[in-house]
Amino acid sequence: MHDAAVKVTAQHLGRDAYLYVRQSSLHQVVHNTESTRRQYDLRGRAVALGWPTERVVVIDVDQGQSGASAADRAGFQRLVADVSLGRAGIVLGLECSRLARNNADWHRLLELCALRGTLICDEDGLYDPGQVNDRLLLGLKGTISEAELHYIRARLQGGILAKARRGELRTRLPVGLVYDPTGRVCVDPDAGVQQAVAHLFATFLATASATAVVKAFAAQGLKFPARHLTGPRAGELYWMALRHDNVLFALHNPRYAGAYFYGRRRSVVDLDGRTRTEHKPRDQWTVLIEDAHPGYISFQQFEANQATLTANAAGRGDDRRAGPPREGPALLQGLVVCGKCGRRMTVNYHARCDASLVPDYACQREGIATGTPACQSMSGANVDAAVAALVLEQLTPLALETALQVSSELAQRAEHADHIRATHVQRAQHAADAARRRYLAVDPANRLVADALEADYNQRLRELANAHDDYDQARAAGNAPLTSDQQQRIHALATDLPTLFNDPATPQRERKRLIRLLITDVTLIKTPEHILAHVRMPGGTQHTLTVPRSLRAWEAHTTPPQTITRIDELLSDHTYDQTAAILNHEGLSSGWGKPFTVPSLTQLCTKRDIPNHRDRLRAAGMLTAQEIADQLAVTPATIKIWRRRGDITGRRVDARREHLYHPGQTRPPDRRRPTRQEAAKPATADNTPTTSPGGAV
Ligand SMILES: [Zn+2]
Repeated sequence: MHDAAVKVTAQHLGRDAYLYVRQSSLHQVVHNTESTRRQYDLRGRAVALGWPTERVVVIDVDQGQSGASAADRAGFQRLVADVSLGRAGIVLGLECSRLARNNADWHRLLELCALRGTLICDEDGLYDPGQVNDRLLLGLKGTISEAELHYIRARLQGGILAKARRGELRTRLPVGLVYDPTGRVCVDPDAGVQQAVAHLFATFLATASATAVVKAFAAQGLKFPARHLTGPRAGELYWMALRHDNVLFALHNPRYAGAYFYGRRRSVVDLDGRTRTEHKPRDQWTVLIEDAHPGYISFQQFEANQATLTANAAGRGDDRRAGPPREGPALLQGLVVCGKCGRRMTVNYHARCDASLVPDYACQREGIATGTPACQSMSGANVDAAVAALVLEQLTPLALETALQVSSELAQRAEHADHIRATHVQRAQHAADAARRRYLAVDPANRLVADALEADYNQRLRELANAHDDYDQARAAGNAPLTSDQQQRIHALATDLPTLFNDPATPQRERKRLIRLLITDVTLIKTPEHILAHVRMPGGTQHTLTVPRSLRAWEAHTTPPQTITRIDELLSDHTYDQTAAILNHEGLSSGWGKPFTVPSLTQLCTKRDIPNHRDRLRAAGMLTAQEIADQLAVTPATIKIWRRRGDITGRRVDARREHLYHPGQTRPPDRRRPTRQEAAKPATADNTPTTSPGGAV
């Protein structure tokens, strides 16, 4: 203790001694009392070093807490806080490095102790973290402790993993599967349990929906088995209403498919030290052994179920909910899904010139939210028509025949459910009989036992009566197979339906309701040529329709290319008015189906950059009236007169009678009015009397 005499000073003794006691698991707290006792013995050590008993502060709030990180351990946090505030003269703990399970926590504590001059004491000795030797030793202890923890864990994990890889590690089995006395997995011998589990899988196969399975069990008044996991009744069977999470648990559990698995999840430590569990993708599971033991479904069926659940999950979320049918004419309103991004598409309408409304399906929500262009949009007229045709085609008498077969299959399933319920009554009867035998066997004088058994007997009788009631009720509500009259009516519907559907008097809302009964959703993808519509039906069947893309207005009203070519030809030799007349004569019409006029032709040629007659002649070198007038040194008016007289030639280029003139024409012989002397002479042949303004020359 001379060590202690040197290290413990009055300054240390003036502060409190902190005894930190920890046990990591509840199991240790209950069973490893030896360790706890040793930890509290350290209190004596503190007293021996000179601290009065009442100055020893015991921190043991972390009992039963896992020590992987300091984040969750309030006691350790308090210890660190008090050390840093300089309240602790000494910190005592069993194997001190175990104070902290994490090296970072340990070094933080050492740092603070050194700073505040706090001593550290464990069973091995007393240390002053302020001295370099002690500090080194304590640091080593921490590192060794952490490494030790790692090796212990690795050894344990290694053993577990090796066992799991062989498929021999016993894991908890879901209800319906049990370990037999030799430790092999087999199907629960209880027929009631077997039937209930099998019924769950059969119902999912038929309905393809976990919610539908829950509803079916509820509607049929069926209960689902479970076993107490812990407590005095561990392993005992009880029955409860089937819940959605039970169904998902069963469907996702490969053991029902006879597969052994281990390591489907991993725990992840967040930055704040908290751990959470994550599901790993299937290819990262530590162990998956198919056909390891008997099961309820095949592994292929298990995989198919997973695919169905994934598809169902995609149908959730804000954007995926189908709204109720509304009044507008868009047949698929609320059912269309964007094939590019998977969001619900919205409906817009645009009016045609005949005032009818045409639906447009647009994926624009994201575009509106982020100010980017819409994902895709398309006219819905052709899609609606194609889907309606598909639905009517599906409702052929043949299809209804299949539907009736399905209905008889449903009746079989109802029978199966009835059978399961009957075993419930049997089970209750058996329990009541057993309770009665126990009651009768007991000595009536032993009131204490007899009373308890009587109460038990009464309880069993009540349960039996309830089981009987449930059975009768479910039986009464059970769905009977369709009568032949009902079947005939269904057949008649197949032939009536197209008439009814196409009747203009049928409200659009009714058509939409019908479509909703027969179609789950329609996924649309627009390609440059057409629209691909993937139609999903409630049974899980899919149809892909290729629908021609509706022409846009400008596409629908575009002048055909051959007409454009003809216009181009005609304009080489004709003006607009002549061309229009020829086109109309030839029966060609504009994109809107109307006869050509000069304005419409002019507009068309301007838009399409087709040069008009005048431009072509100008390009060929012909001159305007002004230009030729300049050449011949006369006014344009004279040129017009000359042209009218036939002295020079020109070509009309437009409806306003503008003309262009061939270049290189010569001045006609002088035809000015003869002077008085000349007039006296007899007129020459070429001297036509005109009103030509003689003074022009
Ligand atoms: Zn989209």
